[in-house]
Amino acid sequence: MSGFDYEQASLFPLPERRSAKSFMDEAIEKYGPIKIFGGFSGGGDSLAPCHWLMSNYPDAGLFHIVTGIGIPETQEFVVDACRHHGWPLTIIRAKEHCGQDYDAIVRAHGFPGPASHQFMYRRLKERAVEKLLRDTKTKRSDRVLFATGVRQDESARRMGYGGQEIRKIKAQIWVNPIYWWTRSDRDRYLDHHSLHRSPISQQLGMSGECLCGAFAHPGELEQVRAVCPEIADRIDALHAEIKDRFPWGWEGRPPKSGPPTGNVGMLCIGCEKSSVVQAAIADLFDEDAMTSLPAGWRTCGPLPK
Ligand code: SF4
Repeated sequence: MSGFDYEQASLFPLPERRSAKSFMDEAIEKYGPIKIFGGFSGGGDSLAPCHWLMSNYPDAGLFHIVTGIGIPETQEFVVDACRHHGWPLTIIRAKEHCGQDYDAIVRAHGFPGPASHQFMYRRLKERAVEKLLRDTKTKRSDRVLFATGVRQDESARRMGYGGQEIRKIKAQIWVNPIYWWTRSDRDRYLDHHSLHRSPISQQLGMSGECLCGAFAHPGELEQVRAVCPEIADRIDALHAEIKDRFPWGWEGRPPKSGPPTGNVGMLCIGCEKSSVVQAAIADLFDEDAMTSLPAGWRTCGPLPK
């Protein structure tokens, strides 16, 4: 299988690729947002588009959500990068600003499985975005543009992101400007601009800003422990506290819990792709072939069986 271009491997036909600028300009012309924000989670798929956004739309700002179940070094990386580049950053805290405490949610409901991802997204991220929107708008009719780092791949298309690179949700205009960048495009961009990547993201294969566990799979907690023992210990302690009522762990799922339902949140695609893309590819290629996947495609633990 060597030489196979996994980045281009497609379960679906690829429509014409469009540039990042064309998506942004179309959304700005059509909706006239009063402000542009880029979501900066700390992963490579947010660093590259955030740098691109701030280079092309210098009046934009960035935002980072402290979900309450993230790796502290990830937040430090985001703050340091913004300070280094002079990017304005707004931090929204799920617990302090939105009253959403991950530990309290888990104590009440147990750890989430894939079917609960929307519930967790609403609690940990959507309310933070809504707060940012409220704090930014001055008039009822105002609209705010949020740029994400979602790129096309099997997962994104399976979950309905294809053809929705610009999506209006009431006053929120969501744009995926780098949707048609490949992984190689992204890496070339990061290298060309000598952008320092987050060590957590490189080691963990995801930003680490949000670890609700909805898409966690066996082995993932140990990977988290390797980069941040404190968070893994906290998850262990939480499990010990609730296991009489909710026996499944962070990597497990509630009994009779089904597959993911509905769209993954606009800021959750990185989690979903770790399980769904790998499962899709595992269906297509045998286990031996998987060992030759490029770095980054198997960064979230063993393949789901
Ligand atoms: S699915 Fe991922 S990004 Fe979404 S709330 Fe859960 S951990 Fe956070």
